[in-house]
Amino acid sequence: MKKVYLAGLVVTLITVLSSCESLDQKAAKIHNHAFTIDTHVDTPYHLLDKDFDIAVAHPFVEGGSRVDFPRMKEGGLDGIFFAAFTSQRERTSENILVARSKADELIDSIYAACQKNNDLAEVALSVEDGYRLEKEGKRAIFIGLENGFPIGKDILEVERYFNKGVRYITLCHTSNNDICDSSTDKDGAEFNGLSSFGEEVVPKMNDLGILIDVSHISDSSFFDVLKLSETPVIASHSCARAVCDNPRNLTDEMLVALAENGGVIQMCILDDYVKAPDTTTVGYQKELDLHARYRNASKMSKEEEDKLWDEWRQMQIDYPKDKPTVADAVDHIDHIVKLIGIDHIGIGTDFDGGGGLKDCVDASQMMNITKELLKRKYSEEEIAKIWGGNFMRVFTEVEEYAKNQKMALN
Ligand SMILES: [Zn+2]
Repeated sequence: MKKVYLAGLVVTLITVLSSCESLDQKAAKIHNHAFTIDTHVDTPYHLLDKDFDIAVAHPFVEGGSRVDFPRMKEGGLDGIFFAAFTSQRERTSENILVARSKADELIDSIYAACQKNNDLAEVALSVEDGYRLEKEGKRAIFIGLENGFPIGKDILEVERYFNKGVRYITLCHTSNNDICDSSTDKDGAEFNGLSSFGEEVVPKMNDLGILIDVSHISDSSFFDVLKLSETPVIASHSCARAVCDNPRNLTDEMLVALAENGGVIQMCILDDYVKAPDTTTVGYQKELDLHARYRNASKMSKEEEDKLWDEWRQMQIDYPKDKPTVADAVDHIDHIVKLIGIDHIGIGTDFDGGGGLKDCVDASQMMNITKELLKRKYSEEEIAKIWGGNFMRVFTEVEEYAKNQKMALN
């Protein structure tokens, strides 16, 4: 009896082990075949630190960096959007100039990092560049501008950023700016959607071939953009509000409208967007306090704001959160797919800007998302759409529209 039992156990173990292995192999195969892209990380801030070498694989530590070229490769990630992020400050002409030079500095640092390591990565400016670099075995580094604040009210700046290689603009950040209302401004709406300047920015982006990123913008701004844009839009890093009630996430009504627009939502893996936080911990109270102070960042000096960011990093070390899991995140994908189908969902982690899960801490662990999708019976074709196919479809449409506009003008 015992022998039979043991033999049965061994067979079960072997079956379990081999099915685990095949899940890893299956995930690796999908990443090999598909063009995979993460549409939002804040890694450029690390590039300004001269001790940070993006060509070296960093072991993950809490509060440390989550993306570098070797970890992207390990995670089977072909492309990425590096965000040139500037925080929203009071809208004075002086502050706009400071933000502009900061955004420019971040963009220049992306070019410098890629030029220095041109055997590993290149700046990508088009869909074609992305696919070419994938074939060459190099990482494709796209540039996004997170927050339209550096544009100020100067429409010519939109084109200057296009010429600098920016391929999406997140219209605003945590507060309202001259383009539109934010989803999280402490004083609420200012324009009830897009401003009149914002109504100039959207068609300008269409004409140039810059993707419009609706992450961070208010619900009214979102619907204004959809009404005005001639091309599908993206939410570069957002989740579903029906699964996690956070103003940064999209409601079902917004998701349905996004699908009608032909656009795509790129699931974010920032804890508070994935799952409602445990509000009883000391860490949560500390975080609330820091959030409240950050809302006044627009009136802070550069030094005060830097100090706040240091406190934020320290808080993550002192009060590590019980983060949500990949399974929690994939619940958002399930919800979105059920609601609007497989063609409107992708991934934008927000690594180095707050993104990261218990079991997906950095770019090297991207395949854990793929494995969860496989467990939930998504097909290889569907997973390829999620990992990049859908986003690249939208990007292609945006490029084509701009090309046609240019031809019509000539
Ligand atoms: Zn963001």
